[in-house]
Amino acid sequence: MIPVTTFKDKKVALFGLGGSGLATAQALVAGGAEVVAWDDNPDSVARAAAAGLSTADLRSVDWSVFAAFVLSPGVPLTHPKPHWTVDLARQAGVEIIGDVELFVRERRAHAPDCPFIAITGTNGKSTTTALIAHILRESGRDTQLGGNIGTAVLTLDPPQAGRFYVVECSSYQIDLAPTLEPTAGVLLNLTPDHLDRHGTMQHYANIKERLVAGSATAIVGIDDSFSSLIADRVERAGTKVVRISRRNVLAEGFYAEGSRLMRASGGTSSLFTDLEGIQTLRGGHNAQNAAAAIAACLAVGVAEKDIVDGLGSFPGLKHRMQPVGKKGDVVFVNDSKATNADAAAPALSSYDRIYWIAGGLPKEGGITSLAPFFPKIVKAYLIGEAAPAFAATLGEAVPYEISGTLEKAVAHAAADAARDEGRPSVVMLSPACASFDQYKNFEVRGDAFVGQVAALEGVTMLV
Ligand code: ADP
Repeated sequence: MIPVTTFKDKKVALFGLGGSGLATAQALVAGGAEVVAWDDNPDSVARAAAAGLSTADLRSVDWSVFAAFVLSPGVPLTHPKPHWTVDLARQAGVEIIGDVELFVRERRAHAPDCPFIAITGTNGKSTTTALIAHILRESGRDTQLGGNIGTAVLTLDPPQAGRFYVVECSSYQIDLAPTLEPTAGVLLNLTPDHLDRHGTMQHYANIKERLVAGSATAIVGIDDSFSSLIADRVERAGTKVVRISRRNVLAEGFYAEGSRLMRASGGTSSLFTDLEGIQTLRGGHNAQNAAAAIAACLAVGVAEKDIVDGLGSFPGLKHRMQPVGKKGDVVFVNDSKATNADAAAPALSSYDRIYWIAGGLPKEGGITSLAPFFPKIVKAYLIGEAAPAFAATLGEAVPYEISGTLEKAVAHAAADAARDEGRPSVVMLSPACASFDQYKNFEVRGDAFVGQVAALEGVTMLV
């Protein structure tokens, strides 16, 4: 745990006691702060009280005594409308911050030189974060991995010289971290997402921009116009910018030509490394993630050979285009994390002969944007609430069945693929939907898929 010493002997209000909120409250208390915690969910309040925290309804306390208000990133700060606690904090003139801000203040106070890499973007954050941490660890560095990826940042070990931090930041966390100043900041890409929580695309982009604007080295994927403008603006303001692209040749920076990652300097390019054969880094999207990881690791002084070795041994992340089993020429791929069409596109683009399991709780837009990949789909197996709508979109273009459940879909897809002798194919769960109609979350859905694959006869499991 990182005891938060920067609020020692001060009173802090905290709202949001699920997951990271509880850990944050405990870190504040461990550092000597007096915390008053609350949540709209009585069960969370009861759990916090049982853990020894002081709780009180923040509607009925005197806000003038608080030095800060710590808000959980899951709670609306701006859109669709500020949470009631935000209104109270603003009325009292109390600053509103989150756990990442508490971490950066702690680092600044105790070990300002310890390398800190922060990663954001619409897609690829967790993969890039895990990849950077893997490279650092494999090179023998003391590495702390946390943030939005699932480990609350204040549960990591405390900042000290020589310790490396790799922290995934959601836009919500950046919004609550006014003095985020990483050694290397990565902005991978920007596409419309979570606009319900950010209002407009411009507002969403402005928040993401803050992460790289405060960085000593800013690493920016410039394949979308918002990110490209951000790179230019941040550079004009005097920050060192390393541009990366998966689509275009660059004069400076890192870009991908298929699986080949090129380094460009002064208009001259040379091969940095080739990702060919690295199963966990297939596809153009992973070329973008790998290019960002290379630039970030170089920015904190990792040797080129260690970076290349680390890329080669990356085990990948669960539920993201993860090869989980194999039977003959058929590979079973768990891409349960693909909860919308945009996130499913990379997986569909990375394979050529696909038995596609899709569906769940549909998101706006459905799968119409995936039409360019339809010719690669041998057959689709549709599950969940989205099945009829997806069937309508597939129409005559792709053979499909409405399997209903994941279990049936896996069994039918495996049987069909097995008849495909001599032609390599994948049976892939890449649902392009949320999971909540049939599962608690995408992890549970992915684990169910893996379990069903493991139960098939003759499958060699890869996980
Ligand atoms: P995030 O943490 O931003 O949600 P992940 O690394 O967990 O991203 O990847 C989630 C999904 O997004 C992956 O399964 C893949 O389909 C897609 N994805 C990963 N990296 C990228 C990228 N650089 N660009 C676009 N899509 C990506």
